Amino acid sequence: MSETIFSKILDGEIPSHKVYEDDAVYAFLDISQVTKGHTLLIPKKASANIFETDSETMQHIGAALPKVANAIKAAFNPDGLNIIQNNGEYADQSVFHLHFHLLPRYENDIDGFGYKWETHEDQIDDKQKAQIAKEIVAQFE
Ligand code: AMP
Repeated sequence: MSETIFSKILDGEIPSHKVYEDDAVYAFLDISQVTKGHTLLIPKKASANIFETDSETMQHIGAALPKVANAIKAAFNPDGLNIIQNNGEYADQSVFHLHFHLLPRYENDIDGFGYKWETHEDQIDDKQKAQIAKEIVAQFE
């Protein structure tokens, strides 16, 4: 795997504001602070994105996510929190070391986050949904 800015952060070559660390993961403030407390959680074992990540790494991430989320909640009492994880340039991934954004949301604060979620429910029927599900399920066989 090629070296990324996050491996340099893990090596201490580039400074970061650490908020949590254990043997397998590291969490630090995102430089952009889209909202107050915006944090990135990364595995120490580098993989480019979700497609290339093993399940053991995800177990470590899964164990740390609620810990870090609850620390942010206890620190700043946000009104909500989004967990966002981008894979591939088209999906807005810019650093190719797996990472999870923890983005606290504040009802009355300046919020640099935009999200569009448009339903297509009225354009797709059960038959089409069954076919889509079938094509994914086939990959597990
Ligand atoms: P993504 O677009 O999902 O790949 O997110 C990459 C994130 O890394 C962006 O939100 C950047 O603000 C953040 N980032 C880039 N360089 C640094 C850095 N040196 N320290 C902290 N966060 C960084």
